[in-house]
Amino acid sequence: DSSSGSSGFFSKRTFPGRVPAGIGRKSLRIVVTGGAGFVGSHLVDKLISRGDEVIVIDNFFTGRKENLVHLFGNPRFELIRHDVVEPILLEVDQIYHLACPASPVHYKYNPVKTIKTNVMGTLNMLGLAKRVGARFLLTSTSEVYGDPLEHPQKETYWGNVNPIGERSCYDEGKRTAETLTMDYHRGADVEVRIARIFNTYGPRMCLDDGRVVSNFVAQVIRKQPMTVYGDGKQTRSFQYVSDLVDGLVALMEGEHVGPFNLGNPGEFTMLELAEVVKETIDSSATIEFKPNTADDPHKRKPDISKAKELLNWEPRISLREGLPLMVNDFRNRILNGDEGKGL
Ligand code: NAD
Ligand code: UDP
Ligand code: UDP
Repeated sequence: DSSSGSSGFFSKRTFPGRVPAGIGRKSLRIVVTGGAGFVGSHLVDKLISRGDEVIVIDNFFTGRKENLVHLFGNPRFELIRHDVVEPILLEVDQIYHLACPASPVHYKYNPVKTIKTNVMGTLNMLGLAKRVGARFLLTSTSEVYGDPLEHPQKETYWGNVNPIGERSCYDEGKRTAETLTMDYHRGADVEVRIARIFNTYGPRMCLDDGRVVSNFVAQVIRKQPMTVYGDGKQTRSFQYVSDLVDGLVALMEGEHVGPFNLGNPGEFTMLELAEVVKETIDSSATIEFKPNTADDPHKRKPDISKAKELLNWEPRISLREGLPLMVNDFRNRILNGDEGKGL
């Protein structure tokens, strides 16, 4: 029935005949777009483990079946190879919309496709949410703040974004996705949630996606120097993936639309990050300086007071605690010759 196009039959918020997911709560049917990716696959694990039915939609641009292979054969799990730029008919209670390449290397690879994914993909998922009365959560990004002139960034800040730069396909794409989400909320009464995610790391990140944490960790394991771009004094705030997943679920289940910053306020320069990676993995690790990329934001740090107050959420895992948790996964994949999908 998951491909049925009828809307009237499935008009209730939970579908009949399900196994209860625990005391007092019916199991939900949940779509996770981008569920074969880094964040998506961890989210899927959490939803499956609490007893829900999960349908993953993914075109495998940056996602990998290996991230979900442990769920194949689980009757509550379904994987559909599909591009969210095309419409799809499903009957579901909730939609976590993550599908979109997230690392600069990947989203700049085909910028027009990145915009189509953000605009047409989000439109289709909102159309689906409207038709079946599902709750919709958008994973937006701290990049909507651009190169911020306010520090730390609060949700009320409107951002400082270059509309015609190399990052614009992603930044402006996500800004438009937020606009669409609010317009479906106001105009069509769709229940929506918006998360603005700050830099996140953990196991299952693509090995060679060019992000700074995956680069440094993979480089040190391979006994290569860590590549610090620019002077290394730019800052980011790094969140461990399980903290993010908890925040996404709290947001979806809560009563507030958002947008909410979801990130770890611990702020590090790239030189400091290199030092932590060195301490964690190999004290003989070295660094080399490389030219920085265009439009690189100078600093980024979330103000998370809104999520603390309204979602009762805050990250628990510091960078020093989280980094060691991804090293084994990276070591194993590097040893097994799985070089990820570096483009
Ligand atoms: P990822 O690249 O690992 O995952 C994205 C997934 O979306 C992949 O599985 C990919 O194959 C899939 N996808 C891409 N385009 C698609 C399309 N057109 N149709 C169907 N599937 C498609 O990235 P991630 O780090 O897991 O990010 C997940 C979401 O979180 C993204 O929306 C990203 O913008 C957002 N986000 C992530 C971070 C971060 O630090 N990881 C920060 C801010 C926002
Ligand atoms: N859509 C979809 N699945 C659905 C319902 C809609 O993919 O179950 C798509 C639909 O094809 C359209 C988009 O979502 O491209 C927006 O749908 P909506 O009904 O809001 O707008 P309309 O079709 O009236 O333009
Ligand atoms: N960066 C770096 N070395 C690398 C990759 C990235 O110094 O090998 C820097 C990059 O210039 C940026 C920061 O790390 O200032 C974060 O980059 P990333 O691509 O991880 O995320 P984003 O720019 O999207 O925050």
